Amino acid sequence: MKAVQIYEHGGADKLRYEDAPDPVLRSPRDVIVGLRAASLNHIDLWNRKGLTGMRVDFPHILGADGAGVVEEVGSEVTHTRKGDSVCLYPPVGCGACDFCHTDRDFMCVRLRVLGEGMKGSYAEYVTIPGDNCFPIPDGYGFEAAAAFPLVFVTVWRMLVTNARLVPGEKVLILGIGGGVAIAALQIAKAMNAWVAVTSSSDEKLERARSLGADYGVNYTRRDFTREIRDVTGKRGVDVVVDCVGGDSWAKSLASLVKGGRLVTCGATTGATPPTDIRRIFWNHLSIFGSTLGSREEFEQVLRFVEAAKVEPVIDRSFPLAEAAAAQTRLETGQQFGKVILLPG
Ligand SMILES: [Zn+2]
Repeated sequence: MKAVQIYEHGGADKLRYEDAPDPVLRSPRDVIVGLRAASLNHIDLWNRKGLTGMRVDFPHILGADGAGVVEEVGSEVTHTRKGDSVCLYPPVGCGACDFCHTDRDFMCVRLRVLGEGMKGSYAEYVTIPGDNCFPIPDGYGFEAAAAFPLVFVTVWRMLVTNARLVPGEKVLILGIGGGVAIAALQIAKAMNAWVAVTSSSDEKLERARSLGADYGVNYTRRDFTREIRDVTGKRGVDVVVDCVGGDSWAKSLASLVKGGRLVTCGATTGATPPTDIRRIFWNHLSIFGSTLGSREEFEQVLRFVEAAKVEPVIDRSFPLAEAAAAQTRLETGQQFGKVILLPG
């Protein structure tokens, strides 16, 4: 099969589009999926650079998100069949620890994720446990189905399970443009929240407004905490989605109403910002960290997007052979929505 492989960590120039061995079933519970689309995530960049501490068997194939058609099914796979169109739930647990036994594979002590600890979706085919295959939401094509899994299950867990977002509450989402931020905007709006977003780009703020954002702050012109305080009558917001970190962290905490909740799943501009702990206890704040989510949460968000008619925003699709250009687009923050790879 054709695949994009890396032989060492480094820049986008390490990605090689070439022939790779066809995948095989490693267990009777595995399936082989013929991928029709993959989507990029920041985790791909960290794995390419070797920043996640993942043990890698080179050559390695990146890619945590994919959708396609089941081509081959192991003898113990029951709920998915050859020919099914599926999207892939990215985490794969060991199956033996207490987390795996309680539907929390994504917290497994020996967790692997598609493209991290196992070969990923930048390829024509992938081997994955049958349990990780879910039917594609109604109305979705393969690109939307590949754009959906990682960011939507992550956002669902952050906003619904952890922050317990209530319709009508006020939400602030930092750095609109990336997959997580846009999915958070779409889910929060579908739940009838009031949503403000931040960006350094007026164009991205405008596009967010067209997706329903109620307010946009260009943080290069004005401190976003002051602006959020002004627009909410000094009250602040109920929930902040901050996957940026860095200098924004303290401002995010300062944008919350008393009893507010901050959710985080990333630290793209800095992982060790200072925190005034007094603000947390004085203001009864909660901070939730999260990555991915459970199978139950994945099911919930699949049903939600079908019912609410929410579809992931696609920025641009590249042929698989142009994975390096696709990653550079993500790495330089040019995108609005998900960047897609198409094999063949
Ligand atoms: Zn486990």
